[in-house]
Amino acid sequence: MEFSSNETENKGFTKIEKFNQETTEELMFHYKKVLELLGEDAEREGLEKTPLRVAKAMQFLTHGYHIKPEEILKSAMFKEEYRQMVIVKDIEVYSMCEHHMLPFVGRAHVAYIPDGTITGLSKIARVVDAFARRLQVQERLTTQIKDCIQDTLKPLGVAVVIEATHMCMSMRGVQKQNSTTTTSDFTGAFEKVATREEFIRLISTKTI
Ligand SMILES: [Zn+2]
Repeated sequence: MEFSSNETENKGFTKIEKFNQETTEELMFHYKKVLELLGEDAEREGLEKTPLRVAKAMQFLTHGYHIKPEEILKSAMFKEEYRQMVIVKDIEVYSMCEHHMLPFVGRAHVAYIPDGTITGLSKIARVVDAFARRLQVQERLTTQIKDCIQDTLKPLGVAVVIEATHMCMSMRGVQKQNSTTTTSDFTGAFEKVATREEFIRLISTKTI
């Protein structure tokens, strides 16, 4: 295991400087080929270290494969009788679309209604990051976050909404620069319209 969960403390935005040597060298070899295939001179000064940089960057951007999100939650589970909605909103999402290997960036809003067990609020953000730092589609990312919280904390319900801009749409293809994609998924108590509406209202309110 190259990345322990401690190294992704600080919401996973900590720069990870530990890489698998073998993987890095193999990726460098292939990225150099990619540069050449794109018509570049991979030996020129500006590109000399690019294969190494890309090899490291790509490993960082996909380091979620080495993290078990359910373990993040299990590391901070507390018995608590609070049975109201807990919302963590505006969690930054940085992910990579699996169809084009281009970034999609946005925000996640996560809520759950505990049924005897709560978790640390920062753990929710780390679960989002652990799933986001892989090749993804936004729909699956949304569902994986919901399932992980539902299966681990076993709350009365979970709600996840993600709003994101996809570079594969902004930079290529239809070139709709300002379009955002919204996905949502709910379980349990959030299947009731009133509860879901309360959640939507709370994430839409600007508190600061
Ligand atoms: Zn894409």
